[in-house]
Amino acid sequence: MVDSRRHVPRTDVILADPRLAAATRSEGRAAVKAAVVATLQRVREGELKPDEVVTTALAALPGGLRPVLNATGVVLHTNLGRAALSAAAREAIVAAAGHTDVELDLTTGRRAKRGRTALTALHRLIPAAEDVHVVNNGAAALVLAATALAGGGREIIVSRGEMVEIGDGFRLPDLLESTGARLREVGTTNRTSVADYKRAIGPATGFILKVHPSNFVVRGFTSAASLPELALLGPPVVADIGSGLLAPDPLLPFEPDAATTLGEGASLVIASGDKLLGGPQAGLLLGSSALVNQLRRHPLARALRVDKLTLAALQATLTGPTTPTRDALHYDPVALRARTLRVQATLAARDISVEVVESDAVVGGGGAPEVTLPSWSLSLPSPYAGPLRTAPTPVVGRVDRGRLLLDLRCVPEEADGVLTDMVIAVAAQEV
Ligand SMILES: *Cc1c(COP(=O)(O)O)cnc(C)c1O
Repeated sequence: MVDSRRHVPRTDVILADPRLAAATRSEGRAAVKAAVVATLQRVREGELKPDEVVTTALAALPGGLRPVLNATGVVLHTNLGRAALSAAAREAIVAAAGHTDVELDLTTGRRAKRGRTALTALHRLIPAAEDVHVVNNGAAALVLAATALAGGGREIIVSRGEMVEIGDGFRLPDLLESTGARLREVGTTNRTSVADYKRAIGPATGFILKVHPSNFVVRGFTSAASLPELALLGPPVVADIGSGLLAPDPLLPFEPDAATTLGEGASLVIASGDKLLGGPQAGLLLGSSALVNQLRRHPLARALRVDKLTLAALQATLTGPTTPTRDALHYDPVALRARTLRVQATLAARDISVEVVESDAVVGGGGAPEVTLPSWSLSLPSPYAGPLRTAPTPVVGRVDRGRLLLDLRCVPEEADGVLTDMVIAVAAQEV
């Protein structure tokens, strides 16, 4: 056996490698050093060659909350953290990270309403709402509404066609029943009429719930009661619209928006902050001031309240220019193709030949399943997928019919150079 001890590189020399230096910034020095030390031990034992240390150490990093390039063509990828925040929202998070006037009026020196400026920004965009409140996420907003308006065994009237599973085993009926409210199911999977709701109303009714079936479509012999009809029945109508569009978007004709839903008579609208709104994870509650106040004052509200970082990011998202989510959704395919061809040309100059192909992007995040966005992708051999995912800057693409597709739609344009470098590095490993 060859004694490789003489060839074991020094730890500090390895740590100075630019790829590991970059990883140190995102992962912390302790984690990177531990990976290097463990890898050098394998060199000592003759399992690895010295020139394999850097790539092996990088692959051994524990990962988790690393910045990733989303080249999947899925705009709101749940496993990649849904919406990417705008530069303004990121800056706002950093600015609020220390002490901040989240609950203090600096002019009077008195206590002020928590997150008032973020709530005002939200209210300004939805004048149809009498009042607004923000909690941790859409699920928290539902729990708060169910607890405050139908807890203690009162009833939530809901259509059988809207008893949905959002994803990863998260079932709306289970969540609602966990609050102590009872579900009064009406109608059938495909058809529910106003009369069905009307028959179910009684002294135990807490509210009527309308849920947007965001991740599936029902076609054929179907009918549902409309909001304006339900709003006339008496009990409050709570509308869970899911995606958080504040106003209609012609690109997404089947996605309900908060303004229209309130205009149609919903008493309370519930939506997520990190879907089509393009902001941080949050649950928006918009509607009648009596109901919003009742929810805000419920003891559970304190357990569901959002932190200052969320408020800061939400405010910047609402007052800022456009969001990465909106930009990705509305990306001009011609511009996307030109950009993709530029990356292809850079790779070709390094003798790496990849194709540029037409592809389909999707909204994701459990929204707008019927919408596909015409897109363009770099097409690479599928064995590139793993090494690109574990590259110093991870690149996550989509494997489709045996090819790895990299769609630049959701990749910040300034990251094209890094993405190109990662492909070049993987190509050099001769996968
Ligand atoms: C996404 C979604 C939810 C859950 O919202 P979270 O913010 O993920 O908690 C609830 N209802 C509908 C219709 C949704 O689309």
